[in-house]
Amino acid sequence: MLRFTSLGSGSSGNGLVVESGATRVLMDCGFTLADTKARLERVGLAPSQIAGIVVTHEHDDHMGGVARFALRYAIPVYLTRGSAQWLPPDFPAVLVRYVDSHTTFSIDGLSVEPFPVPHDAREPVQYVFSDGAARLGVVTDLGSVTQHVVEKLSGCQALVIECNHDLDMLMEGPYPVSLKHRVSGRFGHLSNLDAQRLVSALERSRLRHLIAAHLSQQNNRPELAVRALSAGADCEPGWIGVATQDDGFAWREA
Ligand SMILES: [Zn+2]
Ligand SMILES: [Zn+2]
Repeated sequence: MLRFTSLGSGSSGNGLVVESGATRVLMDCGFTLADTKARLERVGLAPSQIAGIVVTHEHDDHMGGVARFALRYAIPVYLTRGSAQWLPPDFPAVLVRYVDSHTTFSIDGLSVEPFPVPHDAREPVQYVFSDGAARLGVVTDLGSVTQHVVEKLSGCQALVIECNHDLDMLMEGPYPVSLKHRVSGRFGHLSNLDAQRLVSALERSRLRHLIAAHLSQQNNRPELAVRALSAGADCEPGWIGVATQDDGFAWREA
């Protein structure tokens, strides 16, 4: 059985736990040590139960808390060579596991499939997790949808997909022009409409969980993201979940 829960999602910090049997993997950690521990406690876990941390890219909201947490609890960190350049220089090599962005690997029986994504980071990837029966696909920072991303996310039982902004809210909002262009650009973040189009392009016959993630507090509203994903998946809005910055979302079984 594959279970997953979010510790929080958004530009102030991300963390998602995937569990298969007794194996638990943390994807990204953008929270302080104390905050990560508190958020894990909230979902019934202790830091010692985390077998590995898989990193998507070096931005602070994903990697900001990784090194300290990994060091404190001696947890191996899985990341691309590009992301690894942002580890502190004195980070112990014994805790580093390099990820090739096209090669599936396994952490204590949990399969982890990285795939490269367009985003303004050094070597960003996102991941599909599988216990052999169910697949969970996650994309939290994606500038634009590639055919490769569509192939990787097709056929999943569960999807967590970035719905960063409503394009009108972003463009009419308070961000400086350069930041508006960065966020909405091909290496920035997925808008609600982009996410809707991504979902509609996927093979969805096995899909049972669809969750909007990495919502901008400034440039989006949960109901807009929900409306976009329900339109993309051609389903009732009540079926769509939303990951929040403070609480993430509760455990779900893929
Ligand atoms: Zn992010
Ligand atoms: Zn990012």
